[in-house]
Amino acid sequence: MESGPWQSGEVRELELPSEVMRSMVDQAMDRIVKHIESLPGQPVSDVSGGEALARSLVEAMPEQGTPFADLLDLLFERLIPKTFNTASPGYIAYIPGGGLFHAAVADLIADAVNRYTGVWMAAPALAQLEANVLRWFADIIGYPPQARGILTTGGSMANSTALVTARRSRLPENFLSGAIYLSDQVHHSVIKAALLAGFPERNLRLIPVSPDFRIRTDLLHEKIVADRRDGLTPFLIVASAGTTNTGAVDDLEGLADLAAVEKLWLHVDAAYGGFFMLTERGRKAMRGLDRADSVTLDPHKALFLPYGTGSLLVRDGETLRRSHTVHAEYLPPMQEDPDLVDFCLYSPELSRSFRGLRVWLPFKLHGVGPFRRILDEKLDLAEWAAAELRKIPGMEIVANPQLSLVAFRLARKGLSEHKVNDLNERLLEKVNARQRVFLTATSLAGRFVLRICVLSFRTHLDRMQAALEDIRSATDSL
Ligand SMILES: *Cc1c(COP(=O)(O)O)cnc(C)c1O
Repeated sequence: MESGPWQSGEVRELELPSEVMRSMVDQAMDRIVKHIESLPGQPVSDVSGGEALARSLVEAMPEQGTPFADLLDLLFERLIPKTFNTASPGYIAYIPGGGLFHAAVADLIADAVNRYTGVWMAAPALAQLEANVLRWFADIIGYPPQARGILTTGGSMANSTALVTARRSRLPENFLSGAIYLSDQVHHSVIKAALLAGFPERNLRLIPVSPDFRIRTDLLHEKIVADRRDGLTPFLIVASAGTTNTGAVDDLEGLADLAAVEKLWLHVDAAYGGFFMLTERGRKAMRGLDRADSVTLDPHKALFLPYGTGSLLVRDGETLRRSHTVHAEYLPPMQEDPDLVDFCLYSPELSRSFRGLRVWLPFKLHGVGPFRRILDEKLDLAEWAAAELRKIPGMEIVANPQLSLVAFRLARKGLSEHKVNDLNERLLEKVNARQRVFLTATSLAGRFVLRICVLSFRTHLDRMQAALEDIRSATDSL
């Protein structure tokens, strides 16, 4: 063998000795445990000075290293506190989830061993753990054995994959006449997915909702018939099982009937609501979910996992595989047996993190029982909050909880719509200024509406009582 000039030497700087690995984890763990134990007393949101802080961090690529303790100080003392505290029990804004610690431990293991789960052959048993997780999800929503799915980074990517799968399985190569039916309450990620999948905006048919914010199935049907007559190709209905605005669940049975009659693909965006299928009340609210062709679920919402965990299930798993299979010479052989899953054949991704472990570990450690009970607790808390809000003079419940979300606003006689909106903006500011709970608002037909979404595993009655105290006292002061 010829040896050329050898200048750099053998570089082992990034291979850590065992005592350094241990010490890094110990030092980080000290901060993490202190942080998690102090969560209930931390402000539920504080981004004051955030812009100046962000700008002060801009720097050139470092040539020199910095001691680990200094970096932990920076993170835990200066940067992490200046955030929406999405892990706090008082975070009842948007759609919370909390972030289970078990999943963080699973990630540490998964990242440290760094195995490859994109193809079955590279880690057959680990791929099977992830396939188990997806089978459990399929069981939760009542899907048959031939269902398959993937774990994604979130609900948006799941919706995107669903849309492309429906397009590839139902439309010809030139799909520009394909029409998609959605309610005007659908999550914006569905619209984004449709546009990115190549559909012109005019092919998205936004259907009005009833007073309880469910899609008007009758109007939807009329629109499909009219579009067919006009030469369009209706192919996809996207329903919501828990909208972000009000938590509304569409009539899934009715939509499944309609999709069957009209031979359309039915996708249900159950990113927020889907895991309530673990509860009796959830199964009642989402009857018909198992008849959908595909379902988006977001474990980083109602399974309380850390951000970066979404999922898509497809009832006929073969359609998902057919839509995503592309051959490459440099990959190892793929499996013919449908029980042995090569995830890259079902997903747009090839290399990716071993996401399955962060779901598998907490399920195996605890069993599904605590998840079921926590979700029941959330349903109770939302009902409790709605009942207490109703007792406040002038408080109007805009959307009763269909799951764990209640939308409301303060109304005062004689005020213009504009003034009422102002009043509610001030109400929101005052409640959030107390920093015990963090609420967000939305706009419904021009009305500014506040919402409480109870979903974190850390949120219990004491925090909901604090929320109601703060809402009552803010109302009194307006
Ligand atoms: C959160 C949410 C999404 C988007 O999911 P991400 O995980 O944030 O990408 C889509 N649809 C609904 C109904 C949601 O609640």
